[in-house]
Amino acid sequence: MKRIKSVLKYIWQLPQNIIALIYLSYLIVENQIPAITKYKGIKVYTKYSSGSVTLGNYIFISLRATENTIKHEYGHTRQSLYLGPLYLIIIGIPSILWAMIHKTIAPDKLYNWFYTEAWADKLGNVK
Ligand SMILES: [Zn+2]
Repeated sequence: MKRIKSVLKYIWQLPQNIIALIYLSYLIVENQIPAITKYKGIKVYTKYSSGSVTLGNYIFISLRATENTIKHEYGHTRQSLYLGPLYLIIIGIPSILWAMIHKTIAPDKLYNWFYTEAWADKLGNVK
């Protein structure tokens, strides 16, 4: 039963899981993953490049990531679970755009002020 549930969860998040697998394949081929750990049942891939991203069941963090980074990214896995196929539209794309332009369009706002990030902090129990 537990197995069926996890398969269904995986399918529910299929778009982001497929992108994660493509990204993971690229990182493996390029030998860019020095460590793989687990946080609350989710695999955490440490990579040499900067920035952190969560796609479905996969968390990718940089070597500079802190405990709070992992908690935050875990929060994104919860959003993925809640939103399923809508995750990329409601969270993924706005989050990437926000990361790219927030310093230009809202220099007075903290990165985590944006709804995608504030919600991930809350779900991940970031202090
Ligand atoms: Zn985030």
